[in-house]
Amino acid sequence: MATKEAMLHDWGSWDGAFNALTASICRDLGEIVGAGNSHVCVPLQGSGTFAVEAALGTLVPADGKVLVPSNGAYCQRIVRILGYLGRAVTVIEFAEDQPADPARIDAALAADPEITHVAQVHCETGTGILNSLPEIAAVVAARGRRLIVDAMSSFGVIPIDVQAMPIDALVAASGKGLEGVPGMGFVIVRLDALEAATNNSHSLALDLHDQWHYMRKTGQWRFTPPTHVVAALRAALDQYLDEGGQPERLARYAENCATLIAGLRALGLRTFLDDGVQAPVIVTFHAPADAAYDFPEFYRRVRDKGFILYPGKLTSIETFRVGCIGAVGPEVMHGAVTAIGSALKEMGVRVSASALPHNHAK
Ligand SMILES: *Cc1c(COP(=O)(O)O)cnc(C)c1O
Repeated sequence: MATKEAMLHDWGSWDGAFNALTASICRDLGEIVGAGNSHVCVPLQGSGTFAVEAALGTLVPADGKVLVPSNGAYCQRIVRILGYLGRAVTVIEFAEDQPADPARIDAALAADPEITHVAQVHCETGTGILNSLPEIAAVVAARGRRLIVDAMSSFGVIPIDVQAMPIDALVAASGKGLEGVPGMGFVIVRLDALEAATNNSHSLALDLHDQWHYMRKTGQWRFTPPTHVVAALRAALDQYLDEGGQPERLARYAENCATLIAGLRALGLRTFLDDGVQAPVIVTFHAPADAAYDFPEFYRRVRDKGFILYPGKLTSIETFRVGCIGAVGPEVMHGAVTAIGSALKEMGVRVSASALPHNHAK
């Protein structure tokens, strides 16, 4: 509520008061991941993908080469971005229900000295799997390479410490776990890496170095900032900090996730991931095997009860996803379970028939 109310006030986008707001947000975002004096926060207009593209385009030089450990849709998006940018890429494929294996990343780096950077998705939101950032960061640093992390759906939720984990750039956005409204991304970037990235970017609007340089000089955003999104993020961060920050956010989402999984398993549905690799962010469920099941109709019925599902992002098997982040608690997740159960019942979908053993019991 306070987040939405913050958007009722208008700000002068070049005004001192707005500059102070931006500076306070950047300071707090940096503190969440231990930025200290080594890293700076550079905000950027646009959705999260804009910030991912900006980080890759700014930090990877034209003659650089990027290793992408891939276990899902957002990893593949990074590969696509690198294709547009004309940067050399090597992909290591993992099954979508398997976390990226640090040992295979290590072997790939050992085998190819031309690789300069690793681009790793932390929580792969395409399935909800958590990749093991501390181990991967250690492997990349030990091989003397640079690490760029898409932490879009994990930032502020899963512990990240850029002092303990060698990370050049950590990319996230205003929506998702910080519970702001969508519209701006930001990159927590190692100062020396940013300073070395002058004139790397293919794009004016996505040049993080130029954005940072201008902001440091003037306190202002280079181009018109999303003022209301920034104001909403300030209010969202105030609530985040009041509630106890990352540990409390993680605890609430973990409870949401457990409530959701227990509820849907009781209906006979199965999760795609083993519990041990599931991040409390979004959960992928196998679609019921019954012929009466149809995702568009299921979606409409659940939406009409007040809950928006995500379609599955897997190509080979039919799934659907349910988010467990946002300004909601377990009582809302109970409501979602009830809505899903009622929708399936109305459609005449029999789920108990498809109730194979859960993944974790395999
Ligand atoms: C949400 C998300 C993004 C950004 O997607 P947008 O559609 O640009 O908001 C990038 N990576 C991950 C892992 C995400 O969850």
